[in-house]
Amino acid sequence: MAFAQLQLAPPIARAVAEMGYEAMTPIQAQAIPVVLAGRDVMGAAQTGTGKTAAFALPLLQRMMKHENASTSPARHPVRALVLLPTRELADQVAQQVKLYAKYTNLRSAVVFGGMDMKPQTLELKAGVEVLVATPGRLLDHIEAKTAVLNQVEYVVLDEADRMLDIGFLPDLQRILSYLPKQRTTLLFSATFSPEIKRLANSYLQNPTTIEVARSNATASTVEQHFYSVPEDGKRHALHQVLKTRGMKQAFVFVNSKLGCARLARSLEREGLKTTALHGDKSQDERLKALEAFKKGDVDLLVCTDVAARGLDIKDVPAVFNFDIPFNAEDYVHRIGRTGRAGASGLAVSFVGGNNDARLVSDIEKLIKTKIELEALEFDEDQPDLQKQGRINDGRRMYNAEGGDNDGAGSISGRGGRGGRSEPRGRDGDNSASRMPRAPRGDYGRAPVAPRDPFFDKPYEPGEAPVAPPSWEATNKPATRSISANIKPKRKVAALFKSE
Ligand code: AMP
Repeated sequence: MAFAQLQLAPPIARAVAEMGYEAMTPIQAQAIPVVLAGRDVMGAAQTGTGKTAAFALPLLQRMMKHENASTSPARHPVRALVLLPTRELADQVAQQVKLYAKYTNLRSAVVFGGMDMKPQTLELKAGVEVLVATPGRLLDHIEAKTAVLNQVEYVVLDEADRMLDIGFLPDLQRILSYLPKQRTTLLFSATFSPEIKRLANSYLQNPTTIEVARSNATASTVEQHFYSVPEDGKRHALHQVLKTRGMKQAFVFVNSKLGCARLARSLEREGLKTTALHGDKSQDERLKALEAFKKGDVDLLVCTDVAARGLDIKDVPAVFNFDIPFNAEDYVHRIGRTGRAGASGLAVSFVGGNNDARLVSDIEKLIKTKIELEALEFDEDQPDLQKQGRINDGRRMYNAEGGDNDGAGSISGRGGRGGRSEPRGRDGDNSASRMPRAPRGDYGRAPVAPRDPFFDKPYEPGEAPVAPPSWEATNKPATRSISANIKPKRKVAALFKSE
């Protein structure tokens, strides 16, 4: 179905045409007419399916009757509220909404945490019809009375499952309690878990259910491998796969914020240009990390699920599951970063100790595919890990000119060394943080271990030190920041003091 058939208002149709959209995606073809008809929607769709336009276009179309060029803030009350779990998603959705509304007088703004509240406040005070927000920061604005929601007609709960995973349910309930009862509510979620159904039952009225593409399908263009690797050999395994496959860039997924920062720091020390993306990062740091990855200044983006969900980075050649995800559905989301839009991708999972085997069997059930654990073969000529120092020569280590790279051939099926998947030389003292030194851009032909005592010393930055990883400065707990605009409540004791 073509957009032309929708008879969108000319300014919206013009923006859509300018973006090059012709045919609607399946979620758009199903959702747009329903939203235009004013029905509630419960949609199962993931980022990358064209979901944003599926709700934004019909909402803008419906709001056109309020469109006006007045400069009075009162003429631009918030009429549509879009809630998302992360800053990145909020930013992405807001950018798209801005483009779709470009030729209209409908205004939009985005508010999320980790940024100064003042510019957001100024924008809100000037009046906006579409407000895109993360729940925590929106509550700050509600408390500061800079966000007034009593004229909201449309609410979108986007990535609702993820919002519940993060623990936003109480915040969502509070926000929804401020909204008029008479409204259209749209809920999008990758899955319809019992919790999501409960949320829908409480806040949606007789919704139309829309489901596109099975949420548990993994793209057939992604080559998937599961390697059996001891917990403390996973970093070595990561180096090995990167080298063998001549990979240039990859996402590396871990399960915790702390693990994320630690792994990124270790990989950086081992000479890989690495950056971490997790929930404790400031917005500025996140955007910089993403930008650096997109520009190719960073090779590895170590991230948690929450931080990476929905990032619109296409064509990542490889995704590593350094930790097997606790939630099997996250496996599908993670590897969805690679092999997009027909490009072929590689997804490598390291299956170590702990509960990994059980988690893999959950994935197996979900994707309905038998998973064979493979042994990873390590290079014969790799120097003994124990004798090597950490490296940080700032060079890219993995170029395909590595010499022994057998190119397209799969790293699987070589069976490993007698089924042993441990890195050579590891004698169990947990010192996998010391990795083989990379010879100049030719990791594959690692020479005999150098005897230079320099390599037995702990890591120290060289003459041109690499800036300390940003997470060292900002590893603060994820507390909701209170804006300077909100006066803290005086302590009860303080109230009695003056008596
Ligand atoms: P989303 O799932 O909303 O994050 O959209 C993913 C990407 O698809 C965005 O870059 C959109 O600009 C793009 N997109 C959305 N709808 C269409 C369409 N009908 N035709 C072409 N591209 C689209």
